[in-house]
Amino acid sequence: MSPNKTIENNTAGPEKVQNYQVIVIGAGAAGLMCAATAAERGRTTIVLDHANKMAKKVLMSGGGRCNFTNLYVEPENFLSQNEHFCKSALSRYTQWDFISLVEKHGIEYYEKEHGQLFCKNSSKDIRDLLLTECQQVNAKIQLKCHIEKIEALAENRFEITTSLGCYQCESLVIATGGLSIPTMGATGFGYQVAEQFGHKLVPTSAGLTPVTFNGKLGQAFKTLAGNSISVEVSCNGASFKSAMLFTHKGLSGPAILQISNYWRRGEPLTINLLPDTDITEWLQTNIEQRPEIQLKTLLSTQFSQAVAGFISDLLALNCKLKQLNSQQIAHVVEKLEQWQVYPDDVEGYRVAEVTLGGVETNDISSKSFESGKQPGLYFIGEVLDVTGHLGGFNFQWAWASGYAAGSYV
Ligand SMILES: Cc1cc2nc3c(=O)[nH]c(=O)nc-3n(C[C@H](O)[C@H](O)[C@H](O)COP(=O)(O)OP(=O)(O)OC[C@H]3O[C@@H](n4cnc5c(N)ncnc54)[C@H](O)[C@@H]3O)c2cc1C
Repeated sequence: MSPNKTIENNTAGPEKVQNYQVIVIGAGAAGLMCAATAAERGRTTIVLDHANKMAKKVLMSGGGRCNFTNLYVEPENFLSQNEHFCKSALSRYTQWDFISLVEKHGIEYYEKEHGQLFCKNSSKDIRDLLLTECQQVNAKIQLKCHIEKIEALAENRFEITTSLGCYQCESLVIATGGLSIPTMGATGFGYQVAEQFGHKLVPTSAGLTPVTFNGKLGQAFKTLAGNSISVEVSCNGASFKSAMLFTHKGLSGPAILQISNYWRRGEPLTINLLPDTDITEWLQTNIEQRPEIQLKTLLSTQFSQAVAGFISDLLALNCKLKQLNSQQIAHVVEKLEQWQVYPDDVEGYRVAEVTLGGVETNDISSKSFESGKQPGLYFIGEVLDVTGHLGGFNFQWAWASGYAAGSYV
């Protein structure tokens, strides 16, 4: 089927009102899933988006291979002020449902690590899946459509004034995502609509983002930029074991992106530099068996020369293993196991994968995603105060919330 049949080229002109039963604003992961689900139920549906391409974040996700879900989705993988909100939708549209859809479309995929499923070829496969699903049920997509005004009319209808004319609908779904990567079309539009209809917002901040360091530590990290080590990093009761990357601005890599969701300014990150090793035992054994070697030499059996040099400076102990006294041994163990660093900041929305916070969920139905303030209005996906861990959880939330609302609108 030609994409042109689904992707509209509106020439109706400003004078003519176009009527649909369902209008979805935002042609991202959640909005397209919702539109396909609603149209499959026979609802006349259109998706409006101001961008020139649909599903831009799907395309750029997972380093171009879209980590589209995770084998081990649990409510614990999501952050929200209302921790129970995500449960219902996640249980009604699971990772297995999306995997079946991926398989139905013949998309090849693989598990990278920790249950993360990626496309073998390209993220375009998932974008095409969404487009085909919309085409098959005649859900329309109108791009380059700038929303100017939303009004609630009598009898639970909505009027949407746009750069391409006026639309009316019974059910209006806001799927405009969060604030991360503004160059990809992200706006705070969904939050404005929420406030317009009396919803509260949970303060937003950049999530899944690298952290930055100034001063001496920042300089040291700069010299190590490009080196990656396996760590376990902890903060505010959360812990993640994965890779940590040194960068020109500070620290990044999966472990750091994950913990950035839990870090608050002024707090330390606690890093175990050898998470798979019993450090006390390892050190004692080496002291007994290789007393003549330098501590730095021992470190270089675990880390690259550059990182070993850095850790050696951090320990401030330039000696042979046999010269370490018990206090110094305790110091080495503590530093390797619980190294505390104080980031200055996070890199922010320019590079963040998600937005923490958003539309408060207490006034949203966890079953249908309908607003408790305005009948016929729905919020889905990242615009809500629900944020997943790194690893395919954010897309699973988009699919699950999109499917849930699409089943009701
Ligand atoms: C670089 C990067 C990589 C990522 N990789 C992954 C990954 O591999 N796995 C994973 O699970 N998650 C990943 N994410 C997160 C994931 O992309 C998002 O959580 C997900 O796309 C949210 O879906 P959504 O439909 O709610 O919003 P979005 O996908 O952001 O879609 C929102 C849509 O609304 C449109 N819009 C915004 N404002 C307006 C407006 N005013 N008028 C009209 N339209 C508007 C936008 O153009 C966009 O098309 C990644 C994010 C980034 C930035």
